[in-house]
Amino acid sequence: MHQPQHPGAHVRGRGGSSTGHVVDAVIVGAGFAGLYMLHCLRGLGLSARVFEAGGGIGGTWYWNRYPGARCDVESMDYSYSFCDELQQEWRWTERYASQPEILRYVEHIADRFDLRRDIQLETRVTAARFDERASRWQIETDRGDQVSARFCIMATGCLSSAQIPAFPGLESFAGTTYQTSHWPHSEVDFTGQRVGVIGTGSSAIQSIPIIARQVASLVVFQRTPNFSAPARNGALDPEFERRVKADYAAFRQQARESRVGFVVPANAESALAVSAEVRQREYEMRWQRGGLGFAAAFADLLTRQEANDTAAEFFRAKIRATVRDAAVAEALLPKDFPLGTKRICVDTDYYETFNRDNVTLVDLRSEPLEAITPRGVQTEATEYELDSIVFATGFDAMTGALLNIDIRGRGGSTLGDKWVDGPRSYLGIAIAGFPNLFTITGPGSPSVISNMMVSIEQHVDWIADCLSHMREANLYTIEVTTQAEDSWVAHVNEVANATLYPLAKSWYTGANIPGKPRIFMPYVGGVGAYRKTCDEIAAKNYEGFKLTG
Ligand code: NAP
Repeated sequence: MHQPQHPGAHVRGRGGSSTGHVVDAVIVGAGFAGLYMLHCLRGLGLSARVFEAGGGIGGTWYWNRYPGARCDVESMDYSYSFCDELQQEWRWTERYASQPEILRYVEHIADRFDLRRDIQLETRVTAARFDERASRWQIETDRGDQVSARFCIMATGCLSSAQIPAFPGLESFAGTTYQTSHWPHSEVDFTGQRVGVIGTGSSAIQSIPIIARQVASLVVFQRTPNFSAPARNGALDPEFERRVKADYAAFRQQARESRVGFVVPANAESALAVSAEVRQREYEMRWQRGGLGFAAAFADLLTRQEANDTAAEFFRAKIRATVRDAAVAEALLPKDFPLGTKRICVDTDYYETFNRDNVTLVDLRSEPLEAITPRGVQTEATEYELDSIVFATGFDAMTGALLNIDIRGRGGSTLGDKWVDGPRSYLGIAIAGFPNLFTITGPGSPSVISNMMVSIEQHVDWIADCLSHMREANLYTIEVTTQAEDSWVAHVNEVANATLYPLAKSWYTGANIPGKPRIFMPYVGGVGAYRKTCDEIAAKNYEGFKLTG
């Protein structure tokens, strides 16, 4: 491996003629993945440049500042594990950390590990082209940067390419529009306003109860009801914190070996093997505990429709019992997909909010949205007059951020062409035809099905180990074979098809973006099993990869 060079150095790339900034690696994105990757590359003595489109670091937690934004994974789990001093010293204040607190944590990390000097903000990578002659990546940005890097590491996030559907008349609205994923940095005051929220995914479900308390009136435009469990957030229990910190290493290890990257009590029994009373008790216990982990109540909730129906019905009964207006409750009942096949939302007072006099639910199934008008939202039934509209309409998930960059591998072929029928990747880490390019939590890895922190750290560690191995073995390029990639893609599909996941029209399958190819993108084989596979592949001299000197 080359000696580290100063990021600003003007030198020649290996065998090539490119001049300009030369680094060992370019990292795209300064969220949790990019920051830890930078830290690890520094540890290996490699030079790196991080490009970040945002005006600050933090990725998801920089952009998603909407009212109520908070993590649905508990704070003690949703944090870096790589530094014991850090995890011992940092004090989370709540069971689930809020967006401002997570952002403070990110800022602390950047300062503590002196990361900022290699990060360039407000800079979007527009192109990454593999120069076969030099075996180097040429990276271009919207600020005119041209960087030559041996490795290109995509830390672009799974939910970073926001989408607002092309509603007719969108531009005509005379009021103010907001997007949950591009929320203003200054306080938004909805006092006295008539506000509409379009969408009822996690972002909407977190923000609606808070917006409702501020506004004169709130109209929620719902197309598909979701399953949402109470968070039961509160101050972090000091006794729990003490217990975790007493043996944080063991706590982390269990998370790494778990199915989803954090430990929830898992039940090995079938939901259908127990009595209705036992089932009810189990579900009630989880409902009272709050948060994610409901799908682990029985072993077959995600594999057998009849088992899943029992859990889904439990949720529906909770909604009926909470929402006073029977017609509103009925409209809020999720019936279109099995419970857990879209990430279960985690809320504080979501269903209760529909008991407020100033909140109206519009069921877009019975009165489809026709257009945005200068005055508000026009459905088939009526026009809703609004001062502000909040779009909580989701993301072009998992592939959007990658495909927004003009990525060209061997022979100049584009990633867009390669992925025209959906993403193909080996382990969600590497792509055939794109040597020395890595994707952190890419499609084909557990990523969004898991605690992202665990999956991010696993990928970054794996990539860092790989680069270290290449240095020791004096190897210059690593590239997955098409055969290995094909068999991984087949495996990802096979595992998904053995579950109920593909039954949901979700962003996991690309179904939320018109025209996007339908393919189940995350790997649902479990975080622990996946890690083992990745480690075995590395131990077998990077089986499935071609390494050249
Ligand atoms: P989302 O789950 O994709 O929800 C988007 C919402 O917009 C859906 O209700 C969708 O309806 C609606 N929508 C989209 N296009 C529409 C159209 N043309 N007309 C009407 N409605 C439309 O997006 P999200 O809420 O931002 O959440 C995405 C993911 O981010 C979550 O699943 C979660 O993984 C993550 N997240 C996590 C947290 C957390 O940690 N607590 C918070 C927020 C987000 P349909 O369902 O009918 O398409």
